[in-house]
Amino acid sequence: MTSRRRTTPRPAHLEGLDRYEPGLSLEQASRESGLREVVKLASNENPLGPSPRALEAARSALGRVNRYPDGPATTLREALARRLGVSPPQVVIGNGSTELIDLLARAFLGPEDNAVISEGAFARFGQVVRARNGRARLVPMRDLTHDLAAMRAAVDERTRLVYVANPNNPTGTWNRTREVEALLDGLPPHVLVVLDEAYFEYADDPDYPDGVRWVREGRPVAVLRTFSKVYGLAGLRVGYGVAAPEVVEAVDIVREPFNSNVPGQAAALAALEDEDHVRRTVDLAHAERERLARALRERGHRVLPSLANFLFVDVGRDAAAVYRDLVAQGVVVRPLRAYGFDTALRISVGSPEENGRLLTALDAVLAPPRR
Ligand code: PLP
Repeated sequence: MTSRRRTTPRPAHLEGLDRYEPGLSLEQASRESGLREVVKLASNENPLGPSPRALEAARSALGRVNRYPDGPATTLREALARRLGVSPPQVVIGNGSTELIDLLARAFLGPEDNAVISEGAFARFGQVVRARNGRARLVPMRDLTHDLAAMRAAVDERTRLVYVANPNNPTGTWNRTREVEALLDGLPPHVLVVLDEAYFEYADDPDYPDGVRWVREGRPVAVLRTFSKVYGLAGLRVGYGVAAPEVVEAVDIVREPFNSNVPGQAAALAALEDEDHVRRTVDLAHAERERLARALRERGHRVLPSLANFLFVDVGRDAAAVYRDLVAQGVVVRPLRAYGFDTALRISVGSPEENGRLLTALDAVLAPPRR
């Protein structure tokens, strides 16, 4: 009997969508460069590693992995609620905060609904909205920053979500308290603002808002934060959302019941208590962000001000080629063509040694050709 091979066409609502391209992992980078020692400044991770206390908690939790995790992550949610001055029903745990970006779209976007998103914003916003069959209303940036007034003007009767990354990845730029407040004041009641604060702990500008305050005040805001950055637990995939109980309930309906895992929950709980590790991480990021930005500007590159643990750097030439040459030197950063920035790289702020290696490699890559 002859078998006739049939293909499954891509569904119409996924046409034109690409998968999210994360930065190269260390394994991929060392394979591509052929070098064993690779510096990874591509995913805004913590160069100090995880807190030793978190590591110890994860290790001892491994003995319990024959059991399913506590699905609602009760202890972690209680600890977060205490710390943030909200109640546990206002907190939801995600498999990283990226999962919550998706779950909010899944929970709140019906077939004809749309979400308002800034151009140049964190790429997952547009991807999840479109993949969920929702419509993304894209609003141009102003000065490489979310234009919140224009985003408010783009809201219509079918808008259910407005996504704002503050500070934004990949630009590192941010919106000030009164701008976000004006957005909230101007929205109709059927709209929820998703305020992605993945880099909250690094933000050191007095006008940078703490979005949880608006949740406490009962405003329609879902704040997303993560254990992947300042807490150094990216590999364990723990993020959280803070919102009104009814928003959390809606997310809980679509959430996979065991979306966070046993060692992840244990490590996050311990990491939360290790304030010393957080302080050292933030101090290092601030000092090195300053030093790296200065060194890059001295070399003639445009570097945007950043409140996060990375820098948006315009190298003034094809950044994809610079990226490839840097990988060959054993340094991985992030080219930003997918965001429409052909001459820009996003560079995570690493340890002094890592940043030194980056600068040396960049000098080698950008050196004028010898005659
Ligand atoms: N949101 C923003 C703006 C980010 O830059 C990132 C990670 O790079 C995330 C969310 C995702 O973090 P998580 O590891 O918690 O999924």
